[in-house]
Amino acid sequence: MARAELRGKVVAITGGARGIGAATAAAMRRAGAKVAIGDLDLDLATQTAASLGGDTTALALDVTDLPGFTRFLDEVEQRLGPIDVLINNAGIMPVNLLLDESPQTTARQLAINLHAVIHGTREAVRRMQPRGSGHIVNVSSALGKTGMPAVATYCGTKFGVLGFSDAVRHELKGTGVGISVVLPGMVRTELTAGLPESRLVKLLTPEDVANGIVAGARAGRFEIHVPRLNGWMERFMRPFGQRVGDRLITLVGADRMVLEASHAQERRAYEARAAASAPGAEIEEATR
Ligand code: NAD
Repeated sequence: MARAELRGKVVAITGGARGIGAATAAAMRRAGAKVAIGDLDLDLATQTAASLGGDTTALALDVTDLPGFTRFLDEVEQRLGPIDVLINNAGIMPVNLLLDESPQTTARQLAINLHAVIHGTREAVRRMQPRGSGHIVNVSSALGKTGMPAVATYCGTKFGVLGFSDAVRHELKGTGVGISVVLPGMVRTELTAGLPESRLVKLLTPEDVANGIVAGARAGRFEIHVPRLNGWMERFMRPFGQRVGDRLITLVGADRMVLEASHAQERRAYEARAAASAPGAEIEEATR
């Protein structure tokens, strides 16, 4: 769908009930797309869809139930028509030092943030490639390029999303199907509850990311950095090496922001929700 218009296109978004997914659904609606959102929280997804109006569809979705994820895509296609854009957005970010992280918390992040993205991408390619058109947007993070303490596994999954998407980009050459990966900085959503803002590190809004996704998908860009300055900074800093990069992170206090949040009371509700976010993944069995 490189450089295509979004008007009339069918867009499916995982984790679309709140946060970046909900803002992206709204931005896609404004661009004239027909939108379906899937989320673990069907009540909230239904409210979000109703607030967007039109024929916005809300469906129950647990991305860790892989056959269920496939059925979600089938249902969207039955209701709205062939999916033109799939946005793999659902994700969780438990904050803890590696030594304090349970194997279940590790497995949950791998299941939601990485395995489900791989499954969704494969299912989208299976549908789009025979038609010779379509676009996949995988939501990674600025932490898909830079490691940060207290979110090691999360960083691992987001580096994984970037590497995976880059490899698929090669496989898709000449097929008419495109792929983008989104790398937002810190965004004010429930996922970042308790993260203190500093003078040097300001949190973005979900709308900033949504607008970046719409513009990036329209332009057919592979790496969508939000803000775009992050991408330029990352390329500019690369030749200076790891030590300079580490000093910059310490200077702006980005590492302390995340570390401090690991003790924050305000994260309790989010951490509890994230801990219940992979009912389909049989986490207990996977980690025995
Ligand atoms: P959020 O917690 O506000 O929203 C995530 C949504 O995903 C929730 O509605 C939740 O119910 C849903 N979800 C979770 N597990 C699910 C599952 N198994 N199946 C279906 N839905 C599920 O989080 P957000 O900040 O909007 O994050 C969205 C994406 O953006 C994530 O992939 C996140 O890693 C990424 N991201 C966020 C930030 C940030 O600072 N907030 C920065 C970079 C990247």
